[in-house]
Amino acid sequence: MTFSNLKLIKPLISALEKKGYTDPTPIQQQAIPIVLQGRDIFGCAQTGTGKTAAFALPILQLLDAKRATSKKGIKALILAPTRELALQISENFKEYGTNLGLSHVTIFGGVSQFHQVAALKKGVDILIATPGRLLDLIQQGFIKLNAVEHFVLDEADRMLDMGFINDIKRIIPMLPAKRQTLFFSATAAPDIMKLANKILVNPEHVAVTPVSSTTTLVKQSIYYVKKEDKRMLLKFVLKQEKINHVLVFTRTKRGADKVAKDLNKDGIKAEAIHGDKSQGARERALKGFKDRKINVLVATDVASRGIDVDKLSHVINFELPEVAETYVHRIGRTGRAGESGIAMSFCTRDEMPYLKEISKLINKNIEVVKSHPYS
Ligand code: AMP
Repeated sequence: MTFSNLKLIKPLISALEKKGYTDPTPIQQQAIPIVLQGRDIFGCAQTGTGKTAAFALPILQLLDAKRATSKKGIKALILAPTRELALQISENFKEYGTNLGLSHVTIFGGVSQFHQVAALKKGVDILIATPGRLLDLIQQGFIKLNAVEHFVLDEADRMLDMGFINDIKRIIPMLPAKRQTLFFSATAAPDIMKLANKILVNPEHVAVTPVSSTTTLVKQSIYYVKKEDKRMLLKFVLKQEKINHVLVFTRTKRGADKVAKDLNKDGIKAEAIHGDKSQGARERALKGFKDRKINVLVATDVASRGIDVDKLSHVINFELPEVAETYVHRIGRTGRAGESGIAMSFCTRDEMPYLKEISKLINKNIEVVKSHPYS
């Protein structure tokens, strides 16, 4: 399945290519066709599943298609519970919409409204907002919602947890009754369903399993090691376990370069990919790895997102990620599609807190390998 199969238009496909994304995630595969048909959605999906693109891409496409005939004013409203999420969503619209020339503005509380109001005055197609500031600027007369055709309520469960229910109840009646509504929540608790039933019309339900449950097929192990011994340990493990096709994760770009260089010095074919490398260099490295001309691909998390290699047998965490969910995404690169995979992680004393968070998220203790020379 590719993004073209989902009938996305060229400008979006090329923006995705620029990001290095080739294959839609499960939530994108499910949601994009439904949104393009104009239907409402109840989506059960957490952050990290690619849900932002699942609504941003089709909304951009729909807005682009009816650009000539639409009323003036805000045509898509995205509500998010936090400033961080609002900014993240905004970044997604910017990147995916880079070839379309639709305007978007992001508003949230806790900062002066001056720049936000100035941006609104220039005219907006897509507004990304937190509920409090949105109501505030509506009351001051800077925002009208009468032209909204697409309404997204993102992380509805967190909205309710944070006490935004009354704000949301005030915002909904200001929206045109004839609109498309996309409702996303990590849970389907009764109070969530109650809200969803109130604002959705004949919705299609889409769901993807939370990230933490994808780890069952992967055999995971931990190697405790001193920082200065990690590179020796990596070579030891590659040799002892006869691993000749592996994705190795580092936390930093420099770290990735160093590991790849060190392996090459020892005659092991390795390449690093990260954000400082050109798109061409990244594609070449990836192709070399897929064609098995390169044995070890060393990647940072950001660079690894677009990597989709079939039947990856091994993943090694040379460094543990600071965010536990990232660990799950990393090891999810192995053991794909029902195959079992192996994930090894190197952990220093400094990284112990990360390991603790990871164990908590995946709800199990990872087996420790004691029998290695750098223990
Ligand atoms: P989200 O769940 O929307 O927060 O997305 C999680 C991360 O996955 C973000 O960094 C996205 O940029 C990235 N992402 C979204 N769609 C894809 C895709 N189809 N392939 C690879 N990465 C993606």
